[in-house]
This record gives sequence, C-alpha cells and structure tokens, in this order.
Amino acid sequence: MIYRFCPSCGKPLANVERTGRTRAVCSDDACGFVHWNNPVPVVAALLEHEGAIILVRARDWPQHWYGLVTGFLEAHEAPDQAIVREIKEQLDVDATVVSLIGVYAFPEMNQAIIAYHARAEGAITLSDELAAYRSVPPDKLRPWAMGTGHAVKDWLAARTAAAGR
Ligand SMILES: [Zn+2]
Repeated sequence: MIYRFCPSCGKPLANVERTGRTRAVCSDDACGFVHWNNPVPVVAALLEHEGAIILVRARDWPQHWYGLVTGFLEAHEAPDQAIVREIKEQLDVDATVVSLIGVYAFPEMNQAIIAYHARAEGAITLSDELAAYRSVPPDKLRPWAMGTGHAVKDWLAARTAAAGR
C-alpha cells in the first residue's frame, strides 16, 4: 500500500533511508511515523472434502483462475482459528485443521501465507465472495508457480513420500 500523507498526523511522507531500506517517513520529526510496509499474514487451506481438494474462484478473478481458500486474520485470532472461520464463511462447512503445511513468502502481494491442510464434509454453499469452486482429485492437482501454489507443491510432495513408505 502507498501512503502519500502520514496516517497519524496528516503531514506529507518523505522517502528516507531507515534500517537499510527506503521507507515512507513522516516529514514531521516530532511525529516520527514510519510506514514499515510489513507483509500481511494470510491464512490458506488446502481443503480436503470427500476425497477431493476444493479450489475456489473469487468473483473478481479471471474465469480460469482457481486457488486455495484464503483469508485475513481478525484481530486477536489465532491462524488455525482464522482458517476454520474462513472456510465456514466461504463454503458453509465445518472444517478441522489436519496440519500446518508451511509458511510462505508472497512478495507479489506483500503477504506471508500460513497454509494448512484441513478437512471438511457436507454440502458446500458458496458465499457471495466466490464465483465458483472445483473438486479436484489429489492425483489431478497441479501446483501453480506463486503464492499458495508453493503449499500445494509441498503437500503433494509429502503425500507422494508417505505413499512410497
Ligand atoms: Zn506524522
């Protein structure tokens, strides 16, 4: 996010070197606001539902784009609670977290993705945020190159390794 004015006092921000990087810093030293632009944590679920993995398409995405269920944490919410809530809000099913798949940088979106393997049963009802969903058998699931795709890749690799044991 780009700020032009200080969100604390309203004076213009200036680009200033701070701790090795250029930061947007309030021009009023007495205020001292620094926009650190830290990545935002996002929770994601590789959701297993009746033997398939659920991929979803947001309303504002192109027709062929599908991804994992994702969402932002609410204040004071634990990440594993947040993903269960997001699954309920977006698909209207009660999920349980199976495991943490991993934590991934998503520099294109300035996010850090906390990805879980979760399971749910029962009929899916899409929320207004979503345009469509797909049930993809794990054998047909192919990871994509960025964002939550890294979690899909790691989950598939762990699954293959477990099957070969
Ligand atoms: Zn300020």
